[in-house]
Amino acid sequence: MKKGICILGATGSIGVSTLDVVARHPDLYNVVALTANKNIDALYEQCLAHSPEVVVIVDEQKAAEFKTKIEHSSLANLRVLIGAEALVEVSTLPNVDSVMAAIVGAAGLLPTLAAAEAGKTVLLANKEALVMSGDIFMNAVEKSGAQLLPIDSEHNAIFQCMPSAYQTGATAKGVRRILLTASGGPFRTMPLDELAHVTPAQAVAHPNWDMGKKISVDSATMMNKGLEMIEACLLFNMKPEQIQVVIHPQSVIHSMVDYVDGTVLAQMGCPDMRIPIAHALAYPERFESGAMPLDIFAVKHMDFEPADLQRFPCLRLAYEAIQTGGTMPTVLNAANEIAVEAFLNEQIRFTDIPLVIEKTMHAIPMQIADSLETILATDKQARVVANQAIQGLKN
Ligand code: NAD
Ligand code: MG
Repeated sequence: MKKGICILGATGSIGVSTLDVVARHPDLYNVVALTANKNIDALYEQCLAHSPEVVVIVDEQKAAEFKTKIEHSSLANLRVLIGAEALVEVSTLPNVDSVMAAIVGAAGLLPTLAAAEAGKTVLLANKEALVMSGDIFMNAVEKSGAQLLPIDSEHNAIFQCMPSAYQTGATAKGVRRILLTASGGPFRTMPLDELAHVTPAQAVAHPNWDMGKKISVDSATMMNKGLEMIEACLLFNMKPEQIQVVIHPQSVIHSMVDYVDGTVLAQMGCPDMRIPIAHALAYPERFESGAMPLDIFAVKHMDFEPADLQRFPCLRLAYEAIQTGGTMPTVLNAANEIAVEAFLNEQIRFTDIPLVIEKTMHAIPMQIADSLETILATDKQARVVANQAIQGLKN
């Protein structure tokens, strides 16, 4: 029987890679639903190629344009849903077995959480959704019996290095620590006093990975690694001090698990997101991803060094947020989203990003994160405070 898949954020970098892998296995997967925010041209092409039953377009005006566009085409009978609520509708459809959570940022939380509550197989790329909701998300997975498979290359690597039959959310016996690898981004060796002047174009040009703009900036500030450290604590039930960030500029090893007997298991491969995507889609089997085989002789050597918290204050802030606990990771994530957007719009400097986040974290007291309402209210409040911090910087 074919599995039905819903791709949240189909038009993004992860969404496109997912469709590439799915198309290689038409006997195994049936595309049920695709969603996009605004990019209706890409969505239109995807609909022609993958024939989904239903699409969601969040932006109302773009949805109206899309409807006009398909009226007299071969897609005339396609079901088109509009608005953010419809994301939840498609991620919980009865004929959807797997949900690829590939919306960027907090906007992905509700449909991803709904998929977890509905007991779907959740392929999690949208790390912000997990970081902001923490135990609420993990408890939903446990309660429904949903299968949670990490797509973030590091967490997928860690998952693969865990003992067989390992489930996310449980502490793996015998694991001493996780070595979370990071490329270090485009500014790993830039003189510190030049960081204030880097442009959005420089920040989104990642040396090894081709990704969406927001995660590319997060990689440059290393907030991406901070969010991933929190993600790893949640997915693998680890304490923050058990997650060691390792700068590994070649991006060949995607992370490692260090066991108490001294064994270290690493997962390697080319930097191609189709590898973790194919792993999760085929799990527990394996199938072709389309990625190049790793040429170990071309790699020649691999380097490892600790992360410099002075160069990358965002990573320090992420450790502080998880150590404070409660709603502080929600605050961190929301403030980061606002700061990154302001940087991309050239309203603040690259080095202002951590300043905005730190100000926001200091202004909002931690609360117990015991309900979705508290999470959503905190997210909203942190965005207001972060925007005020940005105004303060401009004056
Ligand atoms: P992207 O910017 O390329 O794509 C984002 C997708 O989300 C698009 O389909 C867009 O239409 C949709 N979207 C944006 N705002 C939305 C909103 N308000 N409501 C509904 N949909 C919205 O991003 P990406 O690089 O594909 O990353 C997606 C997620 O995967 C992020 O959480 C990122 O951290 C994570 N991730 C990405 C990579 C990568 O290589 N790109 C690797 C690991 C993890
Ligand atoms: Mg990653």
